[in-house]
Order: sequence, then C-alpha cells, then structure tokens
Amino acid sequence: MRWIQGMAVGALSLALAACSSSPTGRQQLTLVSDQQLNQMGAQTFEQYQQKLPTVGGATLNYVQCVSNAIVAELPSSDLAPNWEVKVFDDPSANAFALPGGYIGVNTGLLDIASNQDQLAAVIGHEVSHVLARHANERVSTQQATQLGLSVIQSAAGIQGPQGDAIMGALGAGAQYGIMLPFSRSHESEADKLGIQLMADAGFDPRASVTLWEKMSQAGGSQPPVWMSTHPSNNQRIEGLEASMNEALPRFEQARRAGKTPNCSRS
Ligand SMILES: [Zn+2]
Repeated sequence: MRWIQGMAVGALSLALAACSSSPTGRQQLTLVSDQQLNQMGAQTFEQYQQKLPTVGGATLNYVQCVSNAIVAELPSSDLAPNWEVKVFDDPSANAFALPGGYIGVNTGLLDIASNQDQLAAVIGHEVSHVLARHANERVSTQQATQLGLSVIQSAAGIQGPQGDAIMGALGAGAQYGIMLPFSRSHESEADKLGIQLMADAGFDPRASVTLWEKMSQAGGSQPPVWMSTHPSNNQRIEGLEASMNEALPRFEQARRAGKTPNCSRS
C-alpha cells in the first residue's frame, strides 16, 4: 500500500515536472530531455544523408536563404545554436525539420513550392514542429503508454541497471518515433506558428494557402508521407485563412522594418 502511494506521489510530481505548455498554450507531456531529443535529431539527419544524395550550389543557397530568414525569427536560440540545411535529390515532395537544428528539403518539394514565399510556408511549418517540441511530446506519450510507470520511475531518476534498461528502451522507442507523422493537433499548431514565423520574416503569408492547394493537387491519390495525417485540405485552408487576420499585419510590419528576403533558385 505504501509502495503504491509512493508511486502515485512519484507519478504526480513527475507529471507536474514534465508537463509544459506549447507556444500556443496547449498542455503537453515532455519526458525526454532536449539534449536527448537533439541527439536523436542529429542521428536521423545523418541517416538521411547516408540514404539520399544531397544537392549543393544555387539550389542549396536558395533553401538556406529561406531557412535562415525563418529561423532568425524564432523566439529563442535555445532550440539550436545554428541550423544545418540540406537539399536531398529525391522526387517526393518532402521536407522536415528535426530537434537540434536540422532542416531537410527534397528537390521534389521545390518543384511544387515554386517561389520563396511558398517554400517559406513549408519551412515555417516544419520548424514550428521543432519550436513546439512536438517530437518530444509524441515520444513521451508513446513511451508513457508502453512502459507506464516504469518510464515515470526512470525519469524520476532511478539509477543502476534498471534505470539503464529503461532509458535504453526509451531511446530505441524514441528513435523510431521521431519521424512518424504528427497528429492533427500538432499539424494545426504548426500551421498557426508557421504562418507567424514566415510573416515575421517578411514572406507573404498568403502563399501558404496557395502552397497547400498545390500540395493537395500534386498529392492526388497518394499524398506524400508527411501529409498523410495532416488535416484535410479544407480544414487546413480554413485554419490558415483564420490566421491571416493576424499574419498580414505582422507581414506588413516586417516589410516596413526592412525584412525583404530575396531568395531565388537560380
Ligand atoms: Zn506537419
């Protein structure tokens, strides 16, 4: 009985310690340290580079130009001291951002996102997943479900072989969890934050609507993996249009402040 009480108290104090708020004020469970997440981000980025050839030159400069303008608007540099950007030579319309400061864009996406504003909409969205610690939340929820109180024990600081085994399981689970599709609530949140980031950087937020329309047409019956759990097109466009009242003044203010990005692919 005392043991159970002890566990309950432990669980409660951990829940309080590990429960944080996303930038939009949503409660989230974050059991994994930023350091651990960043390490997983680095590993995943490394694996990508082993699997796919990268592209340099003007194409890389273009994607870097847009990415730099976006990450300059992040509220804090704590997320990553610097961001590494790679362009992958792959026809699928994919893009991602990873904890620790990694951005990957496929050449296939550049065929659809045909100007800097549309590309900024994608990069703003992906970076917002990192900003809002969605990977941490997803990994934490998965692990909390699978391991129950064991995770809570380990996160509460149990040392020794038991702690090691649990942390090992956490790491393995986290590795496969990091690239899974995001939930709908994460998608909507990334849309909302992404449109603010792009507007603050001086990219026209209206391009986000155009981009998602083009993505849904290009996806046809086989949407790219990263879109598979994204909200339906109508839901997404409605959400973006609702954010426009706030985003347009931010865009105009950014332009007045001299933020006029001029990134071109050639
Ligand atoms: Zn997303």
